[in-house]
Amino acid sequence: MSQGPGRSGVRIGDLLAQGGRSFSFEFFPPKDEAGEEVLWRSISELEPLRPTFVSVTYGAGGTTRDRTIAITERIARETSMLPMAHLTCVGHTREELSAIVGDLGRAGIRNVLALRGDPPGGPGTPWESTPGGLEYASDLVSFLQGHGLSVGVAAFPEGHRDAPSLDHDARVLKAKYDAGAEFAITEMVLRADDYAGLVRRAAEVGADLPIVPGIMPILNLASMRAMVRLSGREMPQETLDRILPLEDDPAALRAEGIAIATELCEALLAAGAPGLHFYTLNRSRATREIFAALQLPV
Ligand code: FAD
Repeated sequence: MSQGPGRSGVRIGDLLAQGGRSFSFEFFPPKDEAGEEVLWRSISELEPLRPTFVSVTYGAGGTTRDRTIAITERIARETSMLPMAHLTCVGHTREELSAIVGDLGRAGIRNVLALRGDPPGGPGTPWESTPGGLEYASDLVSFLQGHGLSVGVAAFPEGHRDAPSLDHDARVLKAKYDAGAEFAITEMVLRADDYAGLVRRAAEVGADLPIVPGIMPILNLASMRAMVRLSGREMPQETLDRILPLEDDPAALRAEGIAIATELCEALLAAGAPGLHFYTLNRSRATREIFAALQLPV
């Protein structure tokens, strides 16, 4: 599935329903001007790969929140890429969420990833609901219906860190599907088998939506380990066995991280994944390298 100009009104759910492979990139709103420059440079370096869509995260804290819509709108206006805005329930009343939906509509944004968001204290701390707000992502999916939006949701290859069981986790995905979610994007996948397990559990409970696996290569072991722990998981031993011997050689470690991610992408596509969603961390090089290694059509 490739893209062309003037696509901001296209619905991602419709593209995925057509059955072609989707390749997408995720960015976050930078905190300062230097970060802004890096982001727009990366966006222009990734545009030639003709992604199916790109997405912009919604800041946990609040400071970068307005920027999500601003960046999403600018992508729609100044590039040929189809943007999606992430939106969370954290700290918002229904009135505030309604105002944001209005802003999205005026900006011409038709695609939204509806999330609960992490607790204000960070992943693993107790969830605090906002008086007058929404409790779960499924509530936000329902809330967003009727605005002509294509709504996607999060899914978790090994279950959400606070889910009491994998069965519960699958039922949560089903609730989001029943509320109107048209597709799901996963937390970064660490093993292709975990993704296959998620797809199987979703099918068993009748959550019949395309589930796009999230990809993040290991470029730096300490930061990858920290991110994996934040998601309540551990790095697979088979990955550590390949990466740990290279700990003192950053260039070799990076190359092995790209090789591991490329193999994972190949396994996921072979397992029938409807596409790949790259967590770019606002950089372009690793994604471009994996794209080249996969020999994807551009
Ligand atoms: P939910 O589906 O609401 O689930 C949250 C927890 O509640 C889970 O433990 C679930 O099992 C439980 N639960 C859900 N429904 C019920 C119910 N009815 N009864 C009992 N328990 C229930 N965070 C951001 O802040 N900004 C972003 O832009 C962002 N983008 C993301 C993109 C992707 C692709 C992914 C995978 C995650 C993203 N996150 C983002 C992180 C996400 O907000 C957190 O993982 C959050 O903790 C869970 O969000 P959710 O939408 O899955 O919530």
